Amino acid sequence: MAEKLKLSFWGASQEVTGSNYLLETPSSKILIDCGFFQGSRINEERNRKPFFYNPSEIDGLIVTHAHLDHIGRIPKLVRDGFRGKIFSTPATRSFSQLMLTDSLGVLEKEVKRSGEKEMIYTEKDVERAMAQWEEIEYCQEFALNGLKIKFRDAGHILGSTIAEIVAGSRKIVFTGDLGNSPEPLLNDTEIIKDADFLIIESTYGDRVHESSKEAELKLERTIEDVVHNKGVLMIPAFSLERTQKILFQLNELVEHGRIPRVPVFLDSPLSIQATKIYKEYSRYYNEEAKKILYKDDIFNFPGLKQTLTTEESKEIGNIPPPKIIIAGSGMCNGGRILHHLRQNLSNQNSAVLLVSYQAVGSLGRQLAEKAKMVSIFGEKVLVEAKIEKISGYSSHPDREALYNFTKNTADSLKKVFVVHGELKSSLFFTQRLRDYLGIDALAPKFGESYEI
Ligand SMILES: [Zn+2]
Repeated sequence: MAEKLKLSFWGASQEVTGSNYLLETPSSKILIDCGFFQGSRINEERNRKPFFYNPSEIDGLIVTHAHLDHIGRIPKLVRDGFRGKIFSTPATRSFSQLMLTDSLGVLEKEVKRSGEKEMIYTEKDVERAMAQWEEIEYCQEFALNGLKIKFRDAGHILGSTIAEIVAGSRKIVFTGDLGNSPEPLLNDTEIIKDADFLIIESTYGDRVHESSKEAELKLERTIEDVVHNKGVLMIPAFSLERTQKILFQLNELVEHGRIPRVPVFLDSPLSIQATKIYKEYSRYYNEEAKKILYKDDIFNFPGLKQTLTTEESKEIGNIPPPKIIIAGSGMCNGGRILHHLRQNLSNQNSAVLLVSYQAVGSLGRQLAEKAKMVSIFGEKVLVEAKIEKISGYSSHPDREALYNFTKNTADSLKKVFVVHGELKSSLFFTQRLRDYLGIDALAPKFGESYEI
């Protein structure tokens, strides 16, 4: 008789953020990801709540990739008593250190704003977490309390993994976030076979993306329009992956003379540092990107200026348009992008280009849904600028790619847990798996447990 396993869903269940899953065997308790809930204030308050399990009883934590909704609560886990090891690829560890250290500044502001006494975690907790962290390469099998674990390339961001966990005769696969392959920099999402249980993301479980060719053309056209109108193009972008993808594309467009030369500002200290780490881990790029890298600095081109200091950032406002500004945060719920939006949103010659997922409650989501008036730093701002969306830059697969990923291992699957998607998206994808593949699939709710 195979021993019983228990799987509990403590985040990203019928919602996108807060990834946190607990896998229990008779001899071990391990977590997969431990991320922030994001998007709205109510969600941010959930990050303060105690964990629903005892962190000191957890033997190990597997980290699929370094986006904050997968790593944000790790220092809190350590603060609350977790002493086990943390496992990820080397790139994920480097990015996590950067992201978690950077988040301290955000948390500090949050404490001041909300009047809370304490930060969710401090620099000490981040340091402690990093000391518990072990680097594991792709395909290098490692053991943890009787479990055998292997990382596959998810192709979502640099260093991202799909975690394959073998417990006795059963293979449990956590997809983390999957990629939108083919990607300009990354390898394709690896094909998974022989999975018994699959825990799969469904961020875009009910949507079809435009192709990367269409995305590139849309970027080109949007830039041409803004330059022609002498406006400001603002691109809110996540510091990991999206920013580098946009830089890579701009590099291609500029080097091939497809867009007019205008000043481009990378106005995000976090993105500037993340881009440096990207350069350190070029061994993870796909062959095509490695070839281009050989001839050209793929994240740099004439006209690009990286603005690290606050003074340099403020100076951007004095440069006459047309100009392009890439800044964080990706969902416009903080960061330098807010200053640029406040300054330029009411200008009808300007444009905002949304290239990322926008969580419910975020300013980015309000813009995506065509709000006429928004509030920035407590000020009402009229939205006159054009709001453009490009879904082809998504780092997630669309519903077709998700379906095909699952289909590859459909024969062996006993059950699929659909997670990391808004309710509508998760349910749509769940139904599709049931109808088209005849698979036992469900979208678990927060706090539900299943014996597998
Ligand atoms: Zn992600």
